[in-house]
Amino acid sequence: MEVRTRFAPSPTGFMHLGGLRTALYNYLFAKKNGGKFILRIEDTDQERFVEGATQVIYDTLRGCGMDWDEGPDVGGPCGPYIQSERKDLYLPYAQQLVASGHAYYCFCTKEELEERRAAAEARGEVFKYDKHCLHLTKEEVQRKLDAGVPYVIRQNAPTEGETSYDDLVFGHMTFPNETLDDMVLIKQDGMPTYNFANVIDDHLMGITHVVRGTEYLSSTPKYNLLYAAFGWEAPQYIHLPTVMRDAHHKLSKRDGDAYYSDFIEKGYLTEALINYLALVGWNPGDDREFFTLPELIEAFDIHRLNKAPGIFDMDKLTWFNAEYIRRMDFERYLTMVTPWFDRVLAGKGMDYRRLAELMQGRTEVFNRVPDMVRFLAELPDYDLELYTHKKMKSNPEVAMQALTLCRPVMEGITEWTEQNIHDALMAAIAQAGMKNGAVLWPLRIAISGQANTPGGAIEIAWLLGKEETLRRMDDGMARLTRAAQG
Ligand code: GLU
Repeated sequence: MEVRTRFAPSPTGFMHLGGLRTALYNYLFAKKNGGKFILRIEDTDQERFVEGATQVIYDTLRGCGMDWDEGPDVGGPCGPYIQSERKDLYLPYAQQLVASGHAYYCFCTKEELEERRAAAEARGEVFKYDKHCLHLTKEEVQRKLDAGVPYVIRQNAPTEGETSYDDLVFGHMTFPNETLDDMVLIKQDGMPTYNFANVIDDHLMGITHVVRGTEYLSSTPKYNLLYAAFGWEAPQYIHLPTVMRDAHHKLSKRDGDAYYSDFIEKGYLTEALINYLALVGWNPGDDREFFTLPELIEAFDIHRLNKAPGIFDMDKLTWFNAEYIRRMDFERYLTMVTPWFDRVLAGKGMDYRRLAELMQGRTEVFNRVPDMVRFLAELPDYDLELYTHKKMKSNPEVAMQALTLCRPVMEGITEWTEQNIHDALMAAIAQAGMKNGAVLWPLRIAISGQANTPGGAIEIAWLLGKEETLRRMDDGMARLTRAAQG
């Protein structure tokens, strides 16, 4: 039997990370088993139509390397793969269930249902459709249909006994039938509900394993009753716990940390995100952490999916991201970091290639880059306390000495290369009998205005150029002099 999984997103305009992880597990499971990964767009909720939303789904999945074997734009034997293009196909199936007694027409109006709901709630009961229309005679139903009275078609769920199924993550699940409501299968506008369409489509598309969120755990008995009513074999189920921000909160769009696009815009790498996302809710059974997509396929085993909600730890993701950036091809890094440099350094004539070399190992997320290199564009105001560094044996007094020593040395360098800067400084330091740190530390502070910099004094001086370096050294000495004079 060929394994066939599907990812069935509703086009909302955004890809939630929870959804992306669902797609990933579907993809991995299919590929691991040499099966097919199918994309189906669930857009029967016409009120929620969002322009361009389907494209977001395509772009995200492709960007992540999860190509689908069958789906809207690539086609396949079970198309169309967009539910709205299948809309005429569902009603006959619902009518078949009506004929066999597993479903029925319901003509109750919204107002009537509201009234009954309010009454039930007043009695302290949970409202469940009361099968009112199940008791209409065949003739009454026909008369209403002929008269064009709007209707829905509802499932006729049993009220006694129980329904159970085996979930591959959650094990044996049993639900008393009295908890099942007669859900709507076909809406007044003739469109199927999700609850109906997912069953029809999963069957027609030959889906063998349904991988989706735990929000569907308790509806699944109703779906299985539909499969049984049609005489179809139900798929296997793999329900996935929610992706959480912490023990109590889901990842929410409000916090700007729920959507794939949020992360890409901040400068997270797709590979890092996919790698980390795979581990939120699954583990390889050993202590390996780094996986490419093909490696994930190789390692994936559904028995290692977690029952407990997965916590999406932002710090851990950031750590992964930094590692991926550190290991990435330098030319790719340079290309990716350039627009972030441009935000603060555009037009400054800065040598991006050298700066990138110094920055690659320090970049955790690209959106942190501008703040890290802004000092190159403009010397920030800084606290003179920075000149004090115990290990470097530096303090404001030593700093003044160091800068006074270096100023003419730097000015005397004719060809401004890192090597020349290095050699000139080292010679001067040795001659003066000072410690390297006691000179290079204050020099770095004077020309950068901060304690943490990509590269040291020599690299920064080179990047800034001679003129700007001398200007900043003068500025440092002036600051120190003012402070010494109180
Ligand atoms: N369209 C549904 C959703 O986005 C799909 C759920 C399923 O995988 O069956 O939640």
